[in-house]
Amino acid sequence: MIGSLARKIFGSANDRRVRAYYPKVEAINALEPELEALSDEQLRARTEDFRKQVANGALLDDLLVPAFATVREAAKRTLGQRHFDVQLIGGMVLHEGAIAEMKTGEGKTLVATLPVYLNSLTGKGVHVVTVNDYLAKRDAEWMGQIYNFLGLKVGVIVHGLDDEQRKVAYECDVTYGTNNELGFDYLRDNMKYELPHMVQRGHIFAIVDEVDSILVDEARTPLIISGPLDDRSEFYNTIDKFIPTLDKAHFDVDEKLRTVTLTETGMEFLEGKLREADLVKGDSLYAIENVSVVHHVNQALRAHKMFQRDRDYIVKNDEVVIIDEFTGRMMPGRRYSEGLHQALEAKERATVQPENQTLASITFQNYFRLYDKLAGMTGTASTEADEFADIYRLEVVEVPTNMPMVRDDQDDEVYRTGAEKYRAIIALIKDCKERGQPVLVGTTSIEKSEMLAQSLSNEGWEQHDFSDVNAFAKLYSGDGGAKNALVFAVLNARYHEQEAYIISQAGVPGAVTIATNMAGRGTDIQLGGNADMRIRQEVGDLAAGPDRTAKEKKIRDEVARLKEKALAAGGLFVLGTERHEARRIDNQLRGRSGRQGDPGTSKFFLSLEDDLMRIFGSDQLGGMLTKLGLQENEAIVHPWINKALEKAQQKVEARNFDIRKNLLKFDDVMNDQRKVIFEQRIELMRDDDVAETVADMRRSVVSELVARHIPQNAYPEQWDTPGLKIELQNVLGLTLPVDEWAKEEGIADEEVRERVTRSADEVMAAKVAKYGAEIMRYVEKSVLLQTLDHLWREHLVMLDHLRQVIGFRGYAQRDPLNEYKSEAFQLFDTLLNRLREGVTAQLMRIEIVQAPPAQTELPPMQAHHINPDTGEDELALAAASAAEARVAAADRKTDDPSTWGKVGRNEVCPCGSGKKYKHCHGRFA
Ligand code: ADP
Ligand code: MG
Repeated sequence: MIGSLARKIFGSANDRRVRAYYPKVEAINALEPELEALSDEQLRARTEDFRKQVANGALLDDLLVPAFATVREAAKRTLGQRHFDVQLIGGMVLHEGAIAEMKTGEGKTLVATLPVYLNSLTGKGVHVVTVNDYLAKRDAEWMGQIYNFLGLKVGVIVHGLDDEQRKVAYECDVTYGTNNELGFDYLRDNMKYELPHMVQRGHIFAIVDEVDSILVDEARTPLIISGPLDDRSEFYNTIDKFIPTLDKAHFDVDEKLRTVTLTETGMEFLEGKLREADLVKGDSLYAIENVSVVHHVNQALRAHKMFQRDRDYIVKNDEVVIIDEFTGRMMPGRRYSEGLHQALEAKERATVQPENQTLASITFQNYFRLYDKLAGMTGTASTEADEFADIYRLEVVEVPTNMPMVRDDQDDEVYRTGAEKYRAIIALIKDCKERGQPVLVGTTSIEKSEMLAQSLSNEGWEQHDFSDVNAFAKLYSGDGGAKNALVFAVLNARYHEQEAYIISQAGVPGAVTIATNMAGRGTDIQLGGNADMRIRQEVGDLAAGPDRTAKEKKIRDEVARLKEKALAAGGLFVLGTERHEARRIDNQLRGRSGRQGDPGTSKFFLSLEDDLMRIFGSDQLGGMLTKLGLQENEAIVHPWINKALEKAQQKVEARNFDIRKNLLKFDDVMNDQRKVIFEQRIELMRDDDVAETVADMRRSVVSELVARHIPQNAYPEQWDTPGLKIELQNVLGLTLPVDEWAKEEGIADEEVRERVTRSADEVMAAKVAKYGAEIMRYVEKSVLLQTLDHLWREHLVMLDHLRQVIGFRGYAQRDPLNEYKSEAFQLFDTLLNRLREGVTAQLMRIEIVQAPPAQTELPPMQAHHINPDTGEDELALAAASAAEARVAAADRKTDDPSTWGKVGRNEVCPCGSGKKYKHCHGRFA
């Protein structure tokens, strides 16, 4: 109470912050007449001038006003758009490395051009990050007009580019790309063997669009690069055989949590079995060396005790196929990770398929923390302000809208059952249709979208495929068409380009669009439709001329007329079919309506059967509803309910934040190690000559070996000379008379160390003499890098497994994170030891039979990012849609348009009519 009163009088901290930007806005505005008077050449020449000033030590902050004014003038001349004052403010927020919260339709794409231009003046490259390839391409082309006008180079990183193309794109002043592709390049770069092969040139400044989606939602799963691993089917089969020998006392099953754990006796029992099979090292199963074995035992146990054939999976043609737990559908091709799928195959006596090994991985949190300066923009950040501050040190600044917001956000309507709720939803959709009001129906999953689509189809509505750009053609006449054509579209965030088109027309009167929250992201819904998108679709390949001009005008007039109608019908109605766990996602949905001062309405429909209500609604809410007298087929609308739900959402948000924070803490351990390794690698690649490094390694190995067998200050009688002799042979390939040396008068360990070192150095010197210094330097470097990579990958797998088993360990009182940290450190130390030994051993034995290959090949690799909401692999989808766009003519069936993929407008129509596609199946109604 007092707080909100105080805010009324003094304004909020945010208001004050925003107010502080106005003097600069005034200064930028004041430059306008002067810049308007410049010719295009003169305007462009300012870029060179700014660059010189920066090179001479001028601060970017001091150039902000003239640089922003320059960009605004260029935007006016190229796009015909003048940055609004609030857009200038957004640009300043981004330049300061904060998050600009700007509502949908405020023009964030254009806002980014201001700080991008300013920060590109250093010549070090600015990255703009988008959520999908379509948006990266769209924004680079769209904003590229401004950049090119000002003499900046623009690059785009999308799926399917080769290294050469990537490198060129990263060399540009501005590079647009998705979080997945940028992270992927970073990981891949750090597996290269030569510096010039690296494609990225540093991480200076990134602006992340839809920053909440990328840094909060997507960040729940890491980016992974994997490659094939050696065949280990023997191993799985061996472990599998032990499981059926367990009895009830050996494990505990928790049906609810879906976990199974070995008991103390079970562990002892298995340890015996594993020992017999020679699978345990050292004296305890829980020693660090056995982490992987324990992990696979756990997986085998899960495969047997938690997974049921024909319920969770089926076995078909020697393959284990997962059954989706929610839809009951088979998911061929999908595999459980971490060896679980192999464990199921072993259990079912199916062939154990080769597995993939993680070659590298990183979370988005850690990727984006690489940047010297990070900024973000989105319509919805304030609910997650704590997380941005905590994890990324990013402040959220709410930038006011250009026009006052007048959308009517109505209270939720609550029903008793889902069926009643859906009846009300359909009634509202029909009502919108009759009044010609466009409606966007938001769902929480693809399944729910499909269910709603089915209900509409049952009542005679026609669903338009998302690839059908004519979905709304029937509505374009406005008038009767809007009300009578019972058509709707369903978007599910897979075919970004087509979905962008459909969502851009979702503001046409009578349009009904059902979409999950991710669908059509980045494209705003304008009332009456989007004229530019329609022009590109409908007359895009028409040469400029009177014909085209006339058609363009017709479309623009039509859109203007439709806009009047949509306005009269109340603007866009956003209908939420369920509350999401996070308020932010609900706000994203509402934000689709009411852009740039347009009218609009938003409303959520809920039922007591919704997940959020069932799980988090608490008894309090139930009691409240009884008090309010909730009846069958009747809805309750009351501000109390909204408040209560908001509380429930806040609780879930806090819990999810905790989960993410905890995950990050574990990942930070690996991240620190990754940084060390990657830095080392780059340094090694940078060195022309690593002879010094490998010689140092060799000397430490020798010291280490000698120390292991000759205790300090020990008499020669106490030396383990036979052991030392064998190890010198094994590791260094040296046969030395250590036993003779031990008999010498007054000999000490120091003397032995020197002699061994000398012999080893001689061997290496002989190799240099034999093969030439140049070849040896090359060989040393590649042996070093390859051994490092090999060990690092093994290390990653170990860390993964360690993380899986750390919770199961018997350290009752200890904190798993601390345990993980100290064991991970030990493993890292071991890695360094093994590196020294491995490199030395290889080099001591190396014989070069032919000239070394010019370039070391990277292993075959795949990149993955599992979307945390849908469980789908985004990079596989990106690859599939890139492939789909290029369906070979031979694979197209003339009578089945779904096999055609993307057809060029001027191609001959694949149906065989002989006409051009645009005059046949590709024709717009
Ligand atoms: P956001 O990302 O903030 O939702 P977009 O960048 O997609 O918004 O822009 C929404 C629409 O507003 C686009 O059609 C864009 O061309 C238009 N727009 C943005 N800024 C301006 C401006 N200053 N003047 C006119 N139109 C603008
Ligand atoms: Mg946008």
